[in-house]
Parts: sequence; C-alpha cells; structure tokens
Amino acid sequence: MLSRAYSPLQEFFVSDTSFASLALPSALASNLDSLGYHQMTPVQAQSLPPMLAGRDVLAQAKTGSGKTAAFGLALLAGLRIEAFAVQGLVLCPTRELADQVAEELRRLARAMPNVKILTLCGGAPLGPQLSSLDHGAHLVVGTPGRIEEHLRKGSLTLGSLTTLVLDEADRMLDMGFQATIDAIIAETPADRQTLLFSATFPEEQSSGDLAAMTRGIMHEPVTVKVA
Ligand code: ADP
Ligand code: MG
Repeated sequence: MLSRAYSPLQEFFVSDTSFASLALPSALASNLDSLGYHQMTPVQAQSLPPMLAGRDVLAQAKTGSGKTAAFGLALLAGLRIEAFAVQGLVLCPTRELADQVAEELRRLARAMPNVKILTLCGGAPLGPQLSSLDHGAHLVVGTPGRIEEHLRKGSLTLGSLTTLVLDEADRMLDMGFQATIDAIIAETPADRQTLLFSATFPEEQSSGDLAAMTRGIMHEPVTVKVA
C-alpha cells in the first residue's frame, strides 16, 4: 500500500506504479522487464519521480522493500557514460552490504555494458583497488573508512560527483561513521544531489543523529516514508 509522502510537494505523488510510467532510458527500462521488475515497490514509486527530477530525497522503508533499485535506477538514469569520472558514490555500513549493492547495480546496468562500477571497502587489499581506480569508474560503492582513505591518498577524487547516496544511514551513524562521512562530503561538490535511505526514520532514532545529519547535508529533501 502506498502511504503518501508527507512532503508538502504533492507534485510527486504517483498513482501509476509501473516502471513504464517513468522516463527511464530505454536500455534500463527493457532490462528491468527482463529482470522481472514490472511494478515499482512503494518506496520506488514514491522516491523515483523526485530523484529523477534531481531532488534530494530522504527515504525510509523496511528491509527488503527495494531501496537499492530505487537509488540504483536514479544513479544509472542520470549517468553520462562518455564522461569517465566518478559521478555517483554509494556509502554503505559494511563490506557485505556494499557487495550486495554493487551486485544489484550491475544487474540493473546489464544493458549498459560500458558502465564501470567499482567496490571500495576496508578489509580488502589496497593494491588492486588502486589499479582499478587508475582505470576509472562511473559509480563507486564502498564503506566510509576506505573511501576516506582513498580520498586522502588522492587515488579517488569526487570533483565530478553528481549524486551521493547514504544507504542504511541509520546504521552508519550507529557505527560511529559520522565524522568520516562528514570528511567525505567535504570533498564533494556543494551542488550534488544527496539521497539518504534508511530502515528507520530520523525522529525514531534515539540518538537524533540522523535528523541532525540530514539538516546539514541535504537541500530541501523530499521525504518518503513507507509504513
Ligand atoms: P532493501 O534495500 O530495501 O532492504 P533490496 O534493495 O535489497 O531491499 O531489495 C530486496 C529484493 O527485492 C531484491 O532481491 C531485489 O532484487 C528485489 N526487487 C527490488 N525491486 C523490485 C521490483 N520492483 N520488482 C521485483 N523485485 C524487486
Ligand atoms: Mg538495502
């Protein structure tokens, strides 16, 4: 069931939940069909229109609700393939989650063979990551510590970043990544799009950290909350 986002911006309320209702690039749209993704899940139906319109989005929906494909489609739809620079960065709390996100992004990007997606996580040796970065990438998925390490080394630069995704932002804050995430954000263009996905909502957080964080890094976000 769709619950109406309580953003005052009703222009993004959707009643058609087929992917065909979105103006997705045709390669992406036909691949969705072959993946068996026909109808958008509620969080996808509510977050994709504002994300595709370039808005910042703060989305909360429970685990297994299709959040990865939501931000994944937004990242891929906006990609300039001919510009071989990191345009999207997804921060995840753990290596396992980053691997899952990268896998889903690669599935979604199957029909876009020239899209390069790189995973950069701690616990993996730096050497291969450095040579992969040397070859360039369009999208990077990683854990905050390792991403910040690459930024400090200069092996990763985010000057061309258009979209930043904080996946499982609540967990990242619980794990103490706030300062590291702030340091990463400081290396990104101020006019980037920021997408924050979480299983809990800022107000529900005992710490209140997530609410404080969104105020500092998001620009008039559209709020999507799926009960
Ligand atoms: P979340 O991040 O919200 O916990 P995931 O993004 O991991 O959830 O998605 C859960 C599962 O749902 C995945 O296996 C994914 O392939 C599948 N899925 C996502 N969107 C759709 C869709 N529109 N139609 C069918 N399956 C989908
Ligand atoms: Mg997820």
